[in-house]
This record gives sequence, structure tokens and C-alpha cells, in this order.
Amino acid sequence: MKLIMLGAPGAGKGTQAKKIAEKYNIPHISTGDIFRANIKNGTELGQKAKTYMDQGLLVPDELVVDLVMDRFAQPDCENGYVLDGFPRTIPQAEALDAALEKAGAKIDYAINVEVPDENIINRMSGRRACVGCGATYHIVHIPPKTEGVCDKCQKELILRDDDKPETVKKRLDVYHEQTQPLMDYYMEKGVLVEVDGTVAMEEVFDAIVEILGA
Ligand code: AMP
Repeated sequence: MKLIMLGAPGAGKGTQAKKIAEKYNIPHISTGDIFRANIKNGTELGQKAKTYMDQGLLVPDELVVDLVMDRFAQPDCENGYVLDGFPRTIPQAEALDAALEKAGAKIDYAINVEVPDENIINRMSGRRACVGCGATYHIVHIPPKTEGVCDKCQKELILRDDDKPETVKKRLDVYHEQTQPLMDYYMEKGVLVEVDGTVAMEEVFDAIVEILGA
């Protein structure tokens, strides 16, 4: 099963992508996580990506596409994957399609997790990320067992620079301008499905499972 998660930053698509990956036993590929790992490890790619990410801008397509193509070539992607945060622009979607076509494969569903902008800004200010493993929480909706401490690796939880309110507003502008056109792109291909992302996390997941099949 090959899936793409669409939706504004903070719509909860990462959380849903992780749950999908677990249930359907396919890898969760998050370009944001890959960039954050590169930043943490001080790689050249990480340094380049950080300058864009900290401003709420997209990392240029040429830095993203090769990275994702390398990831697809890994053996665990044989039975599919759930893409989270890629593609984010029409050129990225076209690059993905070209690669899939070459492999005789296609995307099964592009799942849009729909949440209005006003909800997003409130949500993101409550988001916390682990400095160690990158796990994400929400101070109200998905709180850690101990405030400020990661359940998984016990490291500190912080508000990411790109989750700060002024950056979130910028990211939403970028989303509407560069990523929203993907809705039409995948609708025309007949693979776009939508779920209401404003309801509880478990309900969003149930709606997705209903679409994908148990
Ligand atoms: P995310 O965790 O998916 O919200 O990604 C965090 C940041 O990483 C984004 O705001 C972008 O700066 C960058 N990023 C992640 N995925 C992509 C992508 N496919 N294209 C361009 N930039 C990306």
C-alpha cells in the first residue's frame, strides 16, 4: 500500500501516519524527520535545510527529491510506505510520479487530513517535540506521562523553532500557496480522500481505516 498524507502543518498527519505505519506494517517516511535527524547529526544537508526550516520556508525541491528517492530504494519499502510531508510541491509530486511509473507502481490514496487554519495555530503552540528521539506530543491532546519529559526516551520536550506562532503563520501561507495545489493534482488522479482532522485522534484514525480497509 502506497499512501501520501496531505494536510496543513499541524493537522495531525504525522500522528496518523505513524498509526497507519504500525497497523499496516509499512514504513513511515517523514521528510521533516529526515531533515531534523540531519540537523541533529550536523550533516551538510542538515545545515542547508535548517536555514529554510527555521524561517517556515520549504527546503528547495532539489534537496528533497534525491533524498526521498534514496529512501524508496531501501528494501523495507517493497510493500509500500506512508509518506508524511512529501510531496509538498507540484514538482515533487511529478518527480514522485515519474519514479513510480518507472517502477510500474502507483499511489493508492492521498489522504487529506482537513483542519481549518484557526485550529492549527492554537494546536501548534501546544505541540512539544523530544530533543532526543523526535517524538511529538501536545500539552492538551497528547500529553506525555510526565510534563516536559519524553515517554519513550526520557529526554526533554521543547517547542520546536518551526512551531513558534510567527513561523506557523508563515508555514500556513507557504502551505496554501505551494502545497494546497496538490489536492487538485491528486483529485484529478482519482486517489484523493478526505477525513475530518478536527475530531479526536482515534476517530480520525478510524475514518482512515474505514477507507483503507481493516
Ligand atoms: P514537517 O515536519 O513535515 O512539518 O517539516 C518541517 C519542515 O521541513 C518544513 O516546514 C520544511 O521546511 C521542511 N520540509 C519537510 N518536508 C519537505 C518537503 N517535502 N519539501 C520541502 N521542505 C520540506
